[in-house]
Amino acid sequence: MPACLIALLALVLLGAAAGCGRPGSPPVKGPQPEDLPVYKVATGFSLPGSPTWERAKRRGHLVVGVKEDQPYMGEKDPASGRYSGFDIEIAKMMSASLGFDPKTIEFKTIASANRETALQNGQIDYYVGTYTINDNRKKQVGFAGPYFMAGQSLLVRKDEKDIKGPEDLAGKKVCSAAGSTPYQRLQKEYPEAVLVAYDTYSACVDNLLTYQVDAVSTDDSILLGYAAKVPDELKVVGKPFSEEPYGIGVPRSDNALRLALDDALEANEKNGNWKKAYEATLGLSGQPAPPPPAIDRYPAG
Ligand code: GLU
Repeated sequence: MPACLIALLALVLLGAAAGCGRPGSPPVKGPQPEDLPVYKVATGFSLPGSPTWERAKRRGHLVVGVKEDQPYMGEKDPASGRYSGFDIEIAKMMSASLGFDPKTIEFKTIASANRETALQNGQIDYYVGTYTINDNRKKQVGFAGPYFMAGQSLLVRKDEKDIKGPEDLAGKKVCSAAGSTPYQRLQKEYPEAVLVAYDTYSACVDNLLTYQVDAVSTDDSILLGYAAKVPDELKVVGKPFSEEPYGIGVPRSDNALRLALDDALEANEKNGNWKKAYEATLGLSGQPAPPPPAIDRYPAG
C-alpha cells in the first residue's frame, strides 16, 4: 500500500484534515467556531411532564448520544476531545431551548446498533446522530423532527469505474454499519452484493482505502464528509436511492420531551439558527442548505 494512502487512512480515522502528498495544498476546512450560531439559553424553562428532563435538571446537565467519526455531522477531535458537526449543533440548540447551557452537555458516542438500548436504559437523555426515523424504530424509541432529509448513497475509490449505482453491486464487497437502515436496505433489495458490517462507517472507509471492500454505503450526508476530507482518493457516485429523515431519538414514553424538542426545532428553523448551523458544518461538504423538512408531531401511542 502506498505510504500516502496509509497516511490518508490515519487522517480519515483520526478526523484530522490535511492535504496529502501535494505540497502547498490547503488543509481541508473544518467547522470554524466563529461561524457557529450562539444559542440563547432559555431561562425559567421547565418541563414537569418529562421524567428525562426532570432527571437532567437534578443532574445539572444533559447527556446526549452522538457519533464521533462522521465529518461535518458528528466528529470528535482526538486532541481536544471536542465534538463538532451539524448533529452536534442540533444537540446544542436543543439543550439551550430546554434551559441547559450547551457548554455543559456531556456527549456520549453511541454506535448505530446501540442507539435504542442506550435510550431505553437511560444511558442518554436524547440522541442526535444521523438517526433515521422509521416505524420499526418507533416501536422502541420516540423521535422529534425530522430536522434533515438524507438519502442512501455510495462511496467508492476515485479509480473505481464499475460502480455507478446500487444496481452495479452484484458480487461487489459493500460495507455499512451494523444496525443501520442502509445495511438493511442492501440486504433486502440488493441481495447479490457481498455485505460487510462494522460498528462504524470510519472502519468501512478504512477498508475501502485499503482495497478490502469496493464500496461504502450509507447516507449521502455522511459519505460526502468522508469524500470532502480525501477528495483525491474517494468519490460519491450516483443519486441517493432512499429517504432518510433524521430525528432526535428520545425515550419512547417521554412525549413531553419529544414535543418540546419539536417546538425547539421549529423555533430554531424560524430564527435562522438551523441554516447558520448547517452552513458552518455540513454545508462545508459542498451542498447548499436545503429547506428543513416539516416537523411531524405524531400522536402518542
Ligand atoms: N441514517 C441511517 C440510520 O439511521 C444511517 C446512518 C447511521 O447509521 O447513523 O441507520
